[in-house]
Amino acid sequence: MRIKSVESFVVHSQDTTKEVHEQRNVGGHSGYFVLVHIKTEEGIDGWGECATGSDYGEGAFAAKEIIDRAYSPRIIGKDPREFKKLWNILYTSTEKYGQHDIGVLALSGVDTALVDISSKEYSVPACVLLGGCVTKEIPLYASLLFDMDDPCETAAKGKKYVSDHYTGVKYGWGMVAEKPFGRDFKKDEEMVRTIREILGYEIKLMVDVGRYVNMSSSQALQLAKRITKYDVTWFEEPLPRDDTEGYSSLTSMSPIPIAAGEGYRGIQDFKRAIINREVDLLQPDVSKAGGLSHTKTIVELAHSFNRSWVPHNWSTAINTAATIQLVASTPDGYLMEYKQEPNPLIDRLVKRSGEVFKIRDGKIQVPESPGLGIEIDENVVAEFNVA
Ligand SMILES: [Mg+2]
Repeated sequence: MRIKSVESFVVHSQDTTKEVHEQRNVGGHSGYFVLVHIKTEEGIDGWGECATGSDYGEGAFAAKEIIDRAYSPRIIGKDPREFKKLWNILYTSTEKYGQHDIGVLALSGVDTALVDISSKEYSVPACVLLGGCVTKEIPLYASLLFDMDDPCETAAKGKKYVSDHYTGVKYGWGMVAEKPFGRDFKKDEEMVRTIREILGYEIKLMVDVGRYVNMSSSQALQLAKRITKYDVTWFEEPLPRDDTEGYSSLTSMSPIPIAAGEGYRGIQDFKRAIINREVDLLQPDVSKAGGLSHTKTIVELAHSFNRSWVPHNWSTAINTAATIQLVASTPDGYLMEYKQEPNPLIDRLVKRSGEVFKIRDGKIQVPESPGLGIEIDENVVAEFNVA
């Protein structure tokens, strides 16, 4: 097999929830992504995604530039089934700049597309190519935003997932940057208490501070102690991502398990976090951590250290499809994030989306078709393509 072409598309969309759309600033919430489309001379193609959250699209444009200028010429003519070999060639090629950051981010879309192609070539789902499909369905947790002005309304949004038998509901960040969770601990506690009362204790509840506020390790510990009585399953990203010492200290003392890792790039970040015991639960994102095959390596590393992981998934339908394949291929994957804020790049990007992403009793069904199990609607790519 030989790679014939590599195309990358910067796409942009807003979440379409009315109030989110109205209140967010230009650029929206992580609204820029790079979609990677690789074609082979044999006629098989594959798709991948780089989730390049950046308010003005700068992350996406930088990743696209690397894919077009540096990655594409290095893999055209090569065999896509040698995706691990190609990953290392591309990783090495960015050694002089951003290898460990924008280099891995850009690689994520390429790697996933190559795995998609290779599994289609062998007519198997990607999870089989990655070693075997361990499960036919994956429990989900719904991901929602706090509305700090309205705890009851925030809680009410989660009730649907209790009746839909989701394993958990995660609330995070705040509808707008000006009114974040984590700024006023009294208000934060009142929010978590109200949600717990309205949702009951049957469903897992996760709290994601997100990046609208910065707090220190001891402040985060204070907040964790205030909300632990509401049975919080994990406390996510309470600290700035580079406060690695703060994370180690917080994790050793927090009454609630600490989760982080959605912004980690490449296995080196995960190795450091594991060895330094920075977090209890790792959250690799296939579209940022290095792509489907590399994230598989990362979760195997976590497994070898007996660390729990639950993948982050807050971008397009391509990442959802890739994340399903990742979790399905592992003996210790037990849960995945499912974004609920409506967005056309989730709802319309994949043809027959409702059939592909089938949810039964709060569990997403692993598609049996080859590759990622999706067919991309290229009209939708064109509609949201900005470069
Ligand atoms: Mg998060």
